[in-house]
Amino acid sequence: MLGPVYYYVIIGGGMAGLQLALQLSRDVFFKGKKIAIIDPSDKDKNDKTWCFWEKGAGHWDHIVSSSWEKGLFFSSEAKLELDLSPYRYKKISAIDFYTEVKKELSHSPDVIFIKDTITEVDTVKMQAIGEEGNYPATHFFDSRIPADYLEAKKATKIFQHFRGWEIETENEHFQPEVFTMMDYRLKFKNSTSFMYVLPETSKKALLEFTFFTPFLTEEKIYEEMLENYISEILKIGDFRITSTESGVIPMTDFPFEKKNNRKLTKIGTGGGWVKPSTGYSFKNTEKKTGKIISNIKSGHIPGKNLVYNRFRRYDAFFLDVLARHNQKGEAIFTKFYQANSIEMIFRYLDEETSFSEDIKVMLSLFGYEFIEAFFRKL
Ligand SMILES: Cc1cc2nc3c(=O)[nH]c(=O)nc-3n(C[C@H](O)[C@H](O)[C@H](O)COP(=O)(O)OP(=O)(O)OC[C@H]3O[C@@H](n4cnc5c(N)ncnc54)[C@H](O)[C@@H]3O)c2cc1C
Repeated sequence: MLGPVYYYVIIGGGMAGLQLALQLSRDVFFKGKKIAIIDPSDKDKNDKTWCFWEKGAGHWDHIVSSSWEKGLFFSSEAKLELDLSPYRYKKISAIDFYTEVKKELSHSPDVIFIKDTITEVDTVKMQAIGEEGNYPATHFFDSRIPADYLEAKKATKIFQHFRGWEIETENEHFQPEVFTMMDYRLKFKNSTSFMYVLPETSKKALLEFTFFTPFLTEEKIYEEMLENYISEILKIGDFRITSTESGVIPMTDFPFEKKNNRKLTKIGTGGGWVKPSTGYSFKNTEKKTGKIISNIKSGHIPGKNLVYNRFRRYDAFFLDVLARHNQKGEAIFTKFYQANSIEMIFRYLDEETSFSEDIKVMLSLFGYEFIEAFFRKL
């Protein structure tokens, strides 16, 4: 039996689904339009940490747990001090985001949370088919990763995979005002792999050993790298692990957005909202949901022009180089951070640079691998 017809069904109440629902519920244009958020999870666990950079004050400042204006980048040979100003690098715990957004949405008469797993979206009968019921709607926003992505042969696929330990130490070891974006002093074989360090106090930090590689690896490798980094690089003898985090983020040029149409819009990781060359998507999501809303108000399909083709192309070159010459990651990122100001780097990664600025950034990375990638991905 079919229940009510929702105006929008959002499949997946994770980061993208919740940000989208929040922006829809805050906009009077959508008042009275019923929105169902369907997810099998209650989102009551701290399953990740999100970091992002932004200039000045932002929408999430009240739940930002730490933020930094200074960063470090280490290659095997160089130490770069990064002054982020006018940006700050901000950290949010997922549980604070879920709690905050669900609280606000629970006050909206138009939003309903449904606990179910969607197995299929039938865009002929216009219903999302779940294990517990079917949900008709006039449009579906779907954050599931499409099955054909997993089989796609043409797309370049790199995994950003990591394991993190939040540790506490007896003595003071960290500088809470400086985080480490990438530290290549300890790498796994010849891969693009590095440590990422987010200090919270002088005695507490989150350390994540991270790979950008075409392969995945075993749990014990991350743990060995974390242990070695703590003892050999940080010279810490005594510490205790207070929490752990791990994840795999797709870095790919797969064209997720091609699935968008009048009836359905892919969102989040499943919509290609993760920046292919970095794995970041928290801040991107704010922009994409804003664009969806302006598309709807202008009478376009919601998923129109969500992706900038120019930047997608640059990311495709970069992924191709990483996939084929993975050992070069350290050298490429070193050039990137050495030759460009942080402001330029953040604007480029935020896809806000002009074409002439893009050329300058790309020339700073120049190497034969990029020429090869250019002709392969043309
Ligand atoms: C550990 C980790 C750390 C990350 N850190 C950062 C970071 O620091 N900065 C950054 O910008 N990005 C980061 N990312 C990348 C990205 O921001 C996150 O993956 C983000 O959660 C993606 O949002 P999403 O809504 O697509 O996916 P999710 O937040 O994972 O939400 C997807 C939701 O869909 C639900 N779902 C799945 N299948 C179904 C189904 N069949 N039916 C109904 N619901 C379903 C899931 O239960 C889940 O709640 C991180 C990713 C991971 C994994």
